[in-house]
Amino acid sequence: MTIAPTTVLLTGASGFIASHIVKQLLEQGFHVVGTVRSQAKADYFINRYGKEAPLKFAIVEDIVSDDAFDKVLQEHPEITAVLHTASPFHFNATDYEEHLYAPAVKGTRNILESVRKFAPQVKRVIITSSYAAIMDISKEQDSSFTITEKTWNPMTREDATDPRGAYCLSKKLAEAAAWEFVEQNEDQLNFTVSTINPPFVWGPLENQLDVNSLNTSNEFLLNIFLTAKKLKEDGKDNGDVIPGGPISWVDVRDVAWAHIDAITNPKAPNQRWWITPGHAFPQEIVNLLHQGLPKFASGIAIGNPEKPEIDMSCRAAFDNHITNEQTGIKYIPLSSTIKDAFGQFLTAKSA
Ligand code: NDP
Repeated sequence: MTIAPTTVLLTGASGFIASHIVKQLLEQGFHVVGTVRSQAKADYFINRYGKEAPLKFAIVEDIVSDDAFDKVLQEHPEITAVLHTASPFHFNATDYEEHLYAPAVKGTRNILESVRKFAPQVKRVIITSSYAAIMDISKEQDSSFTITEKTWNPMTREDATDPRGAYCLSKKLAEAAAWEFVEQNEDQLNFTVSTINPPFVWGPLENQLDVNSLNTSNEFLLNIFLTAKKLKEDGKDNGDVIPGGPISWVDVRDVAWAHIDAITNPKAPNQRWWITPGHAFPQEIVNLLHQGLPKFASGIAIGNPEKPEIDMSCRAAFDNHITNEQTGIKYIPLSSTIKDAFGQFLTAKSA
């Protein structure tokens, strides 16, 4: 007997993380229905994977609309799993409510509500949350505190005083809304919810490559290169460590893998998977650039390659062993992430 492939609804399919999910879903034999905001974004993937690929698209211009996902779920009764990645990720919001909180929170509620109403055959909903929903900045310098999958960001709207803080709050509010929905509808749901909570996600792009307008997390990574470049150009490469504290990170291909694992992993329901291999320091990244991509790194500072580590003993401890045990994930090392991401970005920049 042949088993029909699982069809997955992927919201925000043209995004940085989601485009890796598309690739891995197709590689693993899933069928995919993606939501994108325009036909041009769908066409990129159709051209890339071919018209025969089991990949369809629906246009959802704005996840804030109450009925945003009703039509796609009604038209595709074959969908049995949902991956909700669509949510704004940028640090340039001016109206936090309109630009961040509404799409993050309403988008999450809308997908859950539409699945409940129109897709009783769906068994799992996996939501892309964030380490931003876990972290407690007030405790980051508290060595007696341990951050785990159970930790929650305590921020309120009053605490969000800049666009970066507002983005973090948007992720906390969206995830909280998801768990609240589960609690309130406990007896009526045919599906379980899981969240994937990555920190900064880095890696090469599988969506349209525009190095002048990288997604927010890769732009942050590229800025480390640009800082080192400026230090060298300004004659300030004098043996000091490249500035910058520890950055919690994970490779985009691991993030995509975790979303897909959550579709079938029996341990995934009701879990928050905080996927990260740990921290990286700007100096460490610069070291890896010099080792792995010497052609591009010749124009950037060396810093102090012998001393990339900063004393972490005064900081909160990290413990994501539940995620690591439940997923069995083997993290992609930083050296591969840096080589693959910068190899792609810098080749495109120099073309
Ligand atoms: P991208 O900006 O590349 O992807 C975001 C996706 O959401 C895009 O497809 C975007 O569409 C879509 N989207 C945003 N707002 C709306 C809206 N109002 N209506 C419809 N679609 C919308 O970012 P990432 O891939 O990095 O992020 C994907 C998810 O992962 C987000 O939920 C983000 O918060 C989360 N995340 C990302 C991390 C990272 O470091 N990258 C870390 C932790 C969590 P379009 O591009 O057409 O605007």
